[in-house]
Amino acid sequence: MRTAVFPGSFDPFTTGHKDIADRALKVFDTLVIAVGYNINKPGMVSIDDRVKQIADLYDGNPKVKVEAYAGLTVDFAKKHNAGFIVRGLREVKDFEYERNLADTNAAISDIETVFLIARPDLGFVSSSMVRELIANGYDASRFLPKKHQAL
Ligand code: ADP
Repeated sequence: MRTAVFPGSFDPFTTGHKDIADRALKVFDTLVIAVGYNINKPGMVSIDDRVKQIADLYDGNPKVKVEAYAGLTVDFAKKHNAGFIVRGLREVKDFEYERNLADTNAAISDIETVFLIARPDLGFVSSSMVRELIANGYDASRFLPKKHQAL
């Protein structure tokens, strides 16, 4: 059984995140979507609501678990017997940041980081862009996934 953790702030969980999670489910038997507490980013949506939003999307799918976590992602992964961390890559900027994280996690654990490249038409979608639209009164619903609806 291959278990992976997909960690993130998910503030909010976007169509880009959903695409990465759905594709990771083709590779892994179980996916734990881990909503991280970030003291530097208090967040637009509360942690509990983020967990609920994502859990609702995957309600009825026994391969997906959604949990909030604090602390190191590798510790969370070990707790779930997960050998893998999944992350998405959009652009070069993501790559530099993600490589640093992956190198650090490889240095302190045996957990392998697996990258999935953003779907071309979703590569521009980000939580910060969605937050910006909402804060300025725009309807950002098309960037927020709905259950049983194609992305
Ligand atoms: P973090 O604060 O940990 O970077 P995010 O919620 O911003 O968390 O992102 C979680 C993961 O999803 C990251 O690996 C990020 O690169 C990836 N991601 C975010 N948006 C997209 C997208 N549109 N397509 C593919 N991957 C994405």
